[in-house]
Amino acid sequence: MAPTQDEHSSQELLQTQVHLWHHALGFVKSMALKCAMELQIPNTIQHHGGSLTPSELAMKIGLHSSKLPRLLRFMRVLTVSGIFVVHEVASPDKEVTYGLTPTTRLLASDEVKSSIFPILSLMLGTTAITPFLGMHSWFLDEHSMSLFKKVHVDIWEMTDQDNTYNQQINNAMVSDSNFLMDIILKECGDVFLGINSLVDVAGGHGGAARAIAKAFPQMKCTVLDLPHVVAEAPSDAYVSFISGDRFKYIPPSDVVFLKWVFHDWGDEDCVKLLKNCKAAIPPKDAGGKVIIVDMVVGSGPNDIVARETQVLYDLFIMSIEGIEREELEWKKIFMEAGFGDYKIISVLGVRSVIELYP
Ligand code: SAH
Repeated sequence: MAPTQDEHSSQELLQTQVHLWHHALGFVKSMALKCAMELQIPNTIQHHGGSLTPSELAMKIGLHSSKLPRLLRFMRVLTVSGIFVVHEVASPDKEVTYGLTPTTRLLASDEVKSSIFPILSLMLGTTAITPFLGMHSWFLDEHSMSLFKKVHVDIWEMTDQDNTYNQQINNAMVSDSNFLMDIILKECGDVFLGINSLVDVAGGHGGAARAIAKAFPQMKCTVLDLPHVVAEAPSDAYVSFISGDRFKYIPPSDVVFLKWVFHDWGDEDCVKLLKNCKAAIPPKDAGGKVIIVDMVVGSGPNDIVARETQVLYDLFIMSIEGIEREELEWKKIFMEAGFGDYKIISVLGVRSVIELYP
């Protein structure tokens, strides 16, 4: 029997309510992931052969036995949302077991090289979250101070003043570079062919530059970053470090490489930085180019998770007055800085490689 008008609208209303509840409870999902990471659940399961019963898990992570029923409910959230997997058992007197999914395997600290744990810790850290609690009053404010600065200080001042936060950012960046550079070199390593010298501008502790130098040993790779970042950078035979301000000077090089840099800044600063890049490289026919690794909103996979991740990241980075740009927004700053042409290579999930020619 077809639904009556009333039944139809009740179902629609309920669906709307679920949609809103689902959205509102998004933070519970974030906090459950944060808690699982802080309790070291992924690597505890990994260290024990990839499978643990709830009681074994509770014991290994040091929970009091009274917390076991809550742990079951907690793990139900993370298995329903696909973070862990649960293996059911036929017999009622036997416990289920929890296992890792490809997602949680990335979080297990044994796989340090490809771990995305540090960057997630940064995203889920109190420092990053608290500014969002005051977002509505920040919107109503007349002054242009960033959401982050309204609660803390400017993020780069904070890394200068707070050594723990500085280390957290630098470690997160190195782990992200370890993760992404392997993929960049595999999927579009050609962009580095024939380059004699490369400067990684705002390259942090050199995670990306080191990966490029190892893959292309003939290339001279230099990292430019702020003095307090360079001061803590590990030295090795692959890269050399220069401390300085990229808004003032970029050392001459065949290629300027910038990973996850432009998204931190508004258009005016980006154009200034792009002009400095242009001054540092030779003309296009002499091999000059800029290689950018950043997000191009709307490029990459076309599924809802990827699209939502891109716009969520844009709102996240807006807290420090950064921007995740769509192609036309990138084009605008490229042209304003006097560049002639660009090519977007979308093989990095939600991020892309952009080759930019003078
Ligand atoms: N490119 C690195 C780090 C990106 S985070 C990576 O992807 O792993 C942004 C970096 O910009 C930080 O290392 C920060 O110290 C650096 N930075 C911020 N302001 C800068 C400036 N004015 N000059 C040079 N580096 C700067």
